Amino acid sequence: MHRFIFTLITILYLSVQTVSAKEIELSTFETSPIGSYLTYFLEKSDQRLSLKDAQLEFDLGSTLTQSGQTISKGFNVETTWFKTSINNSNALSSHYRLSIESPWLDYIDVYFVNPNGEVEHIIGGDHLPISEQPIFSRFFATDMQFEQGVTDLYIRIQTEAIMPVPIKLSTLADAITNDGNDKFEYGFLYGILVALALYNLVLFFSIRKKIFGLYVLYISGFVLNSMSYTGWLFTFYTPHHGVHFQDYVDVSLMITYSIIGLHFGRRLLDTHLYAPNLNKAIANISNAIPFIILGLFVMDQLHLATIVAFLFNTSFAILTITLGILAVRAKASAANLYLISSVTAAICVSVSTAAVAGLLPYNSFTFKAIEVGMAFEGIILAVALATRFRDAQRDKERAEEHARKDELTDIFNRRGFKYATAQLFPRFRQTNENFALFLLDIDKFKLVNDKFGHATGDLVIIQVTRLIDKTIRTEDIVARWGGEEFIVLLAIKDETEALLLAENLRCEIENLETQYFDENVKVTASIGVSITNFTGNNQLRSDTEIFEKAISNADNALYQAKSNGRNTVCFFNAQNIEGITVADKKKKHTTSHSQVLT
Ligand code: GH3
Ligand code: MG
Ligand code: MG
Repeated sequence: MHRFIFTLITILYLSVQTVSAKEIELSTFETSPIGSYLTYFLEKSDQRLSLKDAQLEFDLGSTLTQSGQTISKGFNVETTWFKTSINNSNALSSHYRLSIESPWLDYIDVYFVNPNGEVEHIIGGDHLPISEQPIFSRFFATDMQFEQGVTDLYIRIQTEAIMPVPIKLSTLADAITNDGNDKFEYGFLYGILVALALYNLVLFFSIRKKIFGLYVLYISGFVLNSMSYTGWLFTFYTPHHGVHFQDYVDVSLMITYSIIGLHFGRRLLDTHLYAPNLNKAIANISNAIPFIILGLFVMDQLHLATIVAFLFNTSFAILTITLGILAVRAKASAANLYLISSVTAAICVSVSTAAVAGLLPYNSFTFKAIEVGMAFEGIILAVALATRFRDAQRDKERAEEHARKDELTDIFNRRGFKYATAQLFPRFRQTNENFALFLLDIDKFKLVNDKFGHATGDLVIIQVTRLIDKTIRTEDIVARWGGEEFIVLLAIKDETEALLLAENLRCEIENLETQYFDENVKVTASIGVSITNFTGNNQLRSDTEIFEKAISNADNALYQAKSNGRNTVCFFNAQNIEGITVADKKKKHTTSHSQVLT
């Protein structure tokens, strides 16, 4: 990402001037980048220039300067010589550190020509293993003691991928302090991201949803990518694999993290549902990019690979914002959070760009805005992920609830009844309460349909539902068991109470009138009743089995009520739920319309 910034800066600095640069006056100098003190020229020669040739070139004066603090030549990677002079008017020599804070420069040659004309030549750059660098650091740095008088500083930089040249001069004390701060700040930002990644890794393993895994890969991908382009990675991983190893790692991590970021975004926002074409296009681009980079790697086209990676990274920022906007418009879950995070990321990239370009103060906060932005993005995306998960959970619950409802009557269906009653089992078992089951079936309902039509039949079913709902107590559970058949669960004291309630219900239905044009449609219902309690029955049975048996008892009673002429209540008395059958326990009725099967 930082490289992208430097490209922009190149464009900003196209207007280079050919005036001579200032000299650094150490007595008034404070630790800072020294871009504006430098003059430079491009080597433009097949042969490597010697220091003497370069000195001659600078003396001829046809060199360039620029006004910004940091020089970047972006993708223009021609070998360049830089020069500045440092005047120490103090009698004492002073200790300073010169740093070139981009870890991906291939060959760095620094020459100090002291007031006596003695030359000190220091080499660095990633063509050397880190153990051979002048200072073990994430970028080139060397300590220098300036004697009284003017020291000339010449720097030659040759590189292939990209060429930002943030040259900085610090007092040794500042350099050490900044080093410590740098470690702390990066450690803090990476720490936040690693913690978020670990937390979501745990979620991934416990919830087993791919999206959490993608989040973990995206965040760790960013950390690795950032560690690579800031040079941290190569202070941990020190084996040397040649001059372009670090650059290729950089390019690979850059595209990897962007690709995972796009997959994460698409999946989080369910882009395929409302932007199938964009979704497909992003998937195709993401699949193609690694092959393009691989091809360029095989052909050893590092410079081109870098440009492709940068173009892709720039598109990544634009694409994530586009995904966010489309998702907000489609009212996708977590869309607002995602859009906020992608816009924040883009702003932070711009802040870093502006800081490096000198449009904003260049300090460790503005320069690290990308990492700060990413830490912020990591947190927001973790919240987005949780939101998304919660919404999905809620949708699932709604769907389940829907699946438990009967469409016509809006009361429980068979599934809903089983679900709702099962919630009461622990209570029934604990209190050893009796509960009654009513199975209620409208008599000769086929005739209603035949005579008045199916729509009227529906209306009657709805009216009967309302009536049952009104007649039973609020804690009782009613459901539509089948076509014109209902089931009710009631907590009751004894048979008498159950029979009374059932009889009352039968009466209410008998008196119900449903208007059909000029006619009143009247129906009656038969009710089968059973009473059970969990502890009174065989302890070996499961609650569900006992309950199923109670339903089947009520069904037997209903069958009996139908056989006995309909519009009647039949009671199945089950002292022992196992043994009793309807046939051999039959006894004639207690009330005009209620009969007990004992
Ligand atoms: P019985 O007294 O023996 O219960 O006679 P019945 O005609 O009520 O019994 P049966 O179970 O044979 O017929 C039930 C009828 O209810 C058949 C079916 O067309 C009708 N039915 C089932 N569900 C619906 C519904 O949702 N709407 C309407 N209008 N009719 C329904
Ligand atoms: Mg019926
Ligand atoms: Mg029926």
